[in-house]
Amino acid sequence: MDLLNTLVDKGLRREPLSRAEALAVLGTSDDDLLDVVAAAGKVRRHWFGRRVKLNYLVNLKSGLCPEDCSYCSQRLGSTAGILKYTWLKPDEASKAAAAGLAGGAKRVCLVASGRGPTDRDVDRVAGTIKAIKEENEGVEVCACLGLLSDGQAERLREAGADAYNHNLNTSESTYGEITTTHTYADRVDTVQKAHAAGLSACSGLIAGMGETDEDLVDVVFSLRELDPDSVPVNFLIPFEGTPLAKEWNLTPQRCLRILAMVRFVCPDVEVRIAGGREVHLRTMQPLALHLANSIFLGDYLTSEGQAGKADLEMIADAGFEVEGADQVTLPEHRAAGGGCGSHESAGCGTHEGGGGCGSHDSGGGCGSHEGGGVCGSAAAAATSSSTATPQTGEARTDLVAVRRRGAGTDLAPNA
Ligand code: SF4
Repeated sequence: MDLLNTLVDKGLRREPLSRAEALAVLGTSDDDLLDVVAAAGKVRRHWFGRRVKLNYLVNLKSGLCPEDCSYCSQRLGSTAGILKYTWLKPDEASKAAAAGLAGGAKRVCLVASGRGPTDRDVDRVAGTIKAIKEENEGVEVCACLGLLSDGQAERLREAGADAYNHNLNTSESTYGEITTTHTYADRVDTVQKAHAAGLSACSGLIAGMGETDEDLVDVVFSLRELDPDSVPVNFLIPFEGTPLAKEWNLTPQRCLRILAMVRFVCPDVEVRIAGGREVHLRTMQPLALHLANSIFLGDYLTSEGQAGKADLEMIADAGFEVEGADQVTLPEHRAAGGGCGSHESAGCGTHEGGGGCGSHDSGGGCGSHEGGGVCGSAAAAATSSSTATPQTGEARTDLVAVRRRGAGTDLAPNA
């Protein structure tokens, strides 16, 4: 396919895709799916080889959030039966982190529900970062605490944080349909604050909320402008008890096309499969490793993932290898920039775009902490668009398990 040859060439040279090219990837047929995966896989291997970076989530504070993100099981008014607890103590968080690191993770993601941290919360997290770094030499720590106020990113950086996650989640034009208590611009501002403080920015999206193909391309192009080092791709986990509980819009094939599009648009960026991996990709998870170079090990914030051992076996069986603590994740040109520095030459351009991280719920990683569902009007828009997402996803509520082990419980974590 000429399109795929063009996209591979662009990916290897870090040349920007056009919107039409990104939309074309999402519009490919199931007959062409393996060709799409093979093409995006060439780009993935060029920049990241066969390495898979493992990240480990520690939910520092769960539930009871005053914000109303529709996808999130921790939102205001959620009746999802998730664990609810206040801040873990530094030694408790460090113990949870150690389990993930022993399982092969090289980055620990410290996540807390809420609109954003108070200065006291930042002090608290600083103590937790210190405890984790003292116990685990070389560990990368990413914080995901919501919207940041002036000076907080700098304080987290000084405390030893390597990265900050805050997701854009969806397109600017539909953002108001999924959340009303803060804005898309708020999210952009926090990602920019993290960048400016010298933190490696992590910002991604949630797919499956009823959005159109245009929305997906919009949010990924906005992310490209923000120039994060890592882009978590969440697939909505439609939790019972949230407004998006009925939004089962994804198929494994659709998830693969979305990951391929993200890889082509952000070729040299750490693309991470986040929440919803097991629920929506199901037995197709190994194919997705040809597109993404990073996953979460074990459980998510409020839902359980497959056993950490199964994650490791899948990586080995698919012919990939777990990235070691002594290996640098990002390509040389990007790692040298200490964040996003050297991306101006191609691919990810400027940082003006803005987005945010932290949708604490798509069930997956940082960023969208829950992967909820979408709002009525977004779904309606999807059905009226010429490139609307077919509503063909199968409801697999049997695959959604609320997390009952690890942080905040007396049971051992899954790692
Ligand atoms: S995504 Fe974060 S801010 Fe939004 S409701 Fe969930 S915990 Fe609160």
